Amino acid sequence: AEQIRIAIAGHGNLGRGVEASVAKNPDMRLVGIYTRRSPDQLTPRDSATPVYAMTELVNHTDDIDVLILCGGSKEDLPRQGPELAALFNTVDSFDTHARIPEYFDSVDAPARANKRTALISAGWDPGMFSINRIIGEALLPDGATYTFWGDGLSQGHSDAVRRIPGVAGAVQYTRPIKEAVDRVRNSERPTLTTREKHRRECFVVLEEGANAEAIRQAIVTMPHYFDEYDTTVNFISAEELARDHHAMVHGGFVIRSGNTSPETPQVIEYGLKLNSNPEFTASVLVAYARAVHRLNAMGQHGAITVFDVAPGLLSPKSAEELRREQL
Ligand code: NAP
Repeated sequence: AEQIRIAIAGHGNLGRGVEASVAKNPDMRLVGIYTRRSPDQLTPRDSATPVYAMTELVNHTDDIDVLILCGGSKEDLPRQGPELAALFNTVDSFDTHARIPEYFDSVDAPARANKRTALISAGWDPGMFSINRIIGEALLPDGATYTFWGDGLSQGHSDAVRRIPGVAGAVQYTRPIKEAVDRVRNSERPTLTTREKHRRECFVVLEEGANAEAIRQAIVTMPHYFDEYDTTVNFISAEELARDHHAMVHGGFVIRSGNTSPETPQVIEYGLKLNSNPEFTASVLVAYARAVHRLNAMGQHGAITVFDVAPGLLSPKSAEELRREQL
């Protein structure tokens, strides 16, 4: 069978993760990396992979089966998503949960008009965790769903802090509050506020002359990202940031606690322990790129999410093989 031709738009952590992941999938090949920076500034994992200016994409619409969008959710994807979904089948990891409905609409119209398939908000959360929330609710309708993140470094939140003027570098850690997790695993079904489940901690390097207190305020009050949490902001040096905060660990768990009868509590738990958040997220995007390629060939156009993709479409194996080997 012909290999699926994958390309990457945006070469940050996630873009590098996609490079690594495509290399693990023999039914795919990476045909290019596209960047807004000067192409000679990038070093691809495999030096044979061509690097192009993002503006070249319009000339390559026949050479790419699925374009994986690896830009940031806050500034890049709201512009790149709709634009590129008019030209390519796309997969992205848009993770500003509160904005997903409007982002979906902005991508759906251009994709539909151009018979493209655009899968938005894949990854692990949104993504694999979202799927497990739906399954938990459907299987245990009398129950409650809990999502805990961390301990881990959140890409989306670090990205958001880094884009505040005056910030030279930053990382953000999300920490689950242990008492809350224990109560959930015990089938207590507690009502927990956002603040009672997690706390957030930022390590920030300031640009010269930046106002630390103004930046702290901008962080802790940022809507959707920090305003509902207890957030600690620590200011550190660039050396400390590089030395102590380079590993992009993350993970977490989705727990559904429910009763199938009044006397019978049941617990479903899905957990991830990630040594590299972007590499794992990239692996999810690449599996969904396979599904998007197939769905486009089947004539499903417009924006879709992980909820719309049957699990079998993620696998390189045929439906028949999957029934025989995995059912
Ligand atoms: P990143 O490293 O900041 O990269 C974002 C973009 O910035 C890149 O596409 C790249 O675009 C540009 N860039 C990267 N390095 C640069 C540099 N040294 N100088 C100038 N520009 C640079 O962000 P990321 O860690 O890859 O994460 C991307 C997004 O993934 C996050 O915003 C988050 O929303 C999402 N994410 C989602 C999940 C999920 O579970 N759904 C999980 C993790 C992350 P150009 O190449 O065009 O310059």
